[in-house]
Amino acid sequence: MANKMASCIFCKIIKGEIPCFRLAETEKTLAFLDINPLSQGHALVIPKVHGEKLTDIPDDHLTDILPIAKKLALATGAHEYNILQNNGRGAHQEVGHVHFHMIPKPNPQEGLGISWPQQKTDMDKLKALAEEIKSKM
Ligand SMILES: [Zn+2]
Repeated sequence: MANKMASCIFCKIIKGEIPCFRLAETEKTLAFLDINPLSQGHALVIPKVHGEKLTDIPDDHLTDILPIAKKLALATGAHEYNILQNNGRGAHQEVGHVHFHMIPKPNPQEGLGISWPQQKTDMDKLKALAEEIKSKM
């Protein structure tokens, strides 16, 4: 973990070693503009503790994040927007430090584009899956 933190670009941003356009900050969270935006106002909200995936971050840090994403959405004036958080390279995570995107969707051309490959299923399978997941929580 220590080595990953030393080379982590977001940990360096948190420490001020790499500049960013800061938008909001609390004891546990930092928000700043994405430098490769999908639309105007595209921002990132990150926990100040290093963790690669959502499951690596303590709950009290996670609960600090969404209210800031909400404030960003309001401040940008975005009427439509996506809150996105990817986990793992295969799931399109580019930086190995948990980050939530707040991406305004001003029109069909700008912002996040999504492919949504729905699978066929049946209600019995869904019911069994729901029971299985609930039994592990
Ligand atoms: Zn980090």
